[in-house]
Amino acid sequence: MKIYKAAIIGLGPSGLAVNKIIYGNTKDEIIAFENSDISNRDNFFGFWLTDWMKPFETIIEKKWNEWIIGDAKTHIIHTSNDKPYCVISFKTWRNYCLDTKNNLKLEKKQVQEYFPFKNYFKIITADKKEFYAEKIYDSRSVKEKNGELTQNFFGINIETADHTFDEKKLTLMHFTQESDILHFIYILPFSHNRALVESTVFSKNVLDEIWFREKINDYLKMNNINKFKEHGREKGVIPMFFCDVAKPLNNNIVNIGIRGGACKPSTGYAFSFLIKQIQLLNKSNKNHVTVHKFIERKMDKIFINFLKNNKETGKSFIKLASNLNGDEFQSFMMGESNFLTKLKIIKTMPKMPFIKEIFN
Ligand SMILES: Cc1cc2nc3c(=O)[nH]c(=O)nc-3n(C[C@H](O)[C@H](O)[C@H](O)COP(=O)(O)OP(=O)(O)OC[C@H]3O[C@@H](n4cnc5c(N)ncnc54)[C@H](O)[C@@H]3O)c2cc1C
Repeated sequence: MKIYKAAIIGLGPSGLAVNKIIYGNTKDEIIAFENSDISNRDNFFGFWLTDWMKPFETIIEKKWNEWIIGDAKTHIIHTSNDKPYCVISFKTWRNYCLDTKNNLKLEKKQVQEYFPFKNYFKIITADKKEFYAEKIYDSRSVKEKNGELTQNFFGINIETADHTFDEKKLTLMHFTQESDILHFIYILPFSHNRALVESTVFSKNVLDEIWFREKINDYLKMNNINKFKEHGREKGVIPMFFCDVAKPLNNNIVNIGIRGGACKPSTGYAFSFLIKQIQLLNKSNKNHVTVHKFIERKMDKIFINFLKNNKETGKSFIKLASNLNGDEFQSFMMGESNFLTKLKIIKTMPKMPFIKEIFN
């Protein structure tokens, strides 16, 4: 009977990060379970270049020092020279994290359950096979919950006529005025004729591809982009509620990624935070680390409740962006804002609804 040093459940970005950051330089035997075909997964993860992301600079696909937040009437342009917006693709992250010295066995199986057995764990898969490991890293998470908001989106990778895009500026949020939903377009211009164009909503129901495609086409037409070739697509659902699972009592069970509380639910950003989480776990002998400070979580909660209970078309985001400079904005998005920036943010928010949410 083989007992692995650790078992990783799920080879999304956080499971991969465990393999690289915690075990990559060891000779340990690790087993990973993944029930989907991750070779088909193809999407980009965006983040601002914080100190903890600097070790991964060599695998960054592209950096932008300028980004736009706005709508049909307003364009706020932010600049940050030190902390640009960056993207890493899932494929690059996967290859990087699988290139290690340790011995990783990948089982394309669904984990059904695991439980302590002697002084290690017994893991049972859907096909009733049994595996054993000393430690568990679990990344299974719930992405939707009745009555809660999700950020759901669909995007296409397109090739257009030459000089269609300004490749130096990305569009972080271009709000369109929908009657019943908060919707924005996100554009990553990789070059003058290649871009990811994504349509995103904050909603309680997950919308279908047809709806998103219509919004993308409307936006492209409005910008005189009538002809393009589609090279790929990405879609997803990110929880806008706190969905981290309680800290396990057994110190050898570690919840990671979104399951371990890495997501910043008000924005849907999780990638760089889950990396920070795994870096912190690597230095800690505990099975849980704090990625988002108490005050950040409180502010997130108030903001999400505000979004849930009020009709928001993007005006609050635009107002917030217009009151902060690029460095302040990115520090807020990455959970690193100082006291003064936090005060500026609070001052920007609509007063009455926010006061109501604080006492909710
Ligand atoms: C398309 C897309 C784009 C995104 N873009 C950004 C971005 O730009 N910036 C950002 O910060 N965040 C982004 N996110 C949010 C976040 O970074 C991702 O959701 C990220 O994938 C979360 O990583 P994770 O490891 O926690 O979970 P997951 O990626 O969900 O990984 C969990 C893995 O576990 C597997 N699994 C589940 N159950 C089992 C089981 N029982 N047995 C075996 N395997 C199982 C799943 O198949 C999955 O591969 C994006 C998300 C998506 C979906």
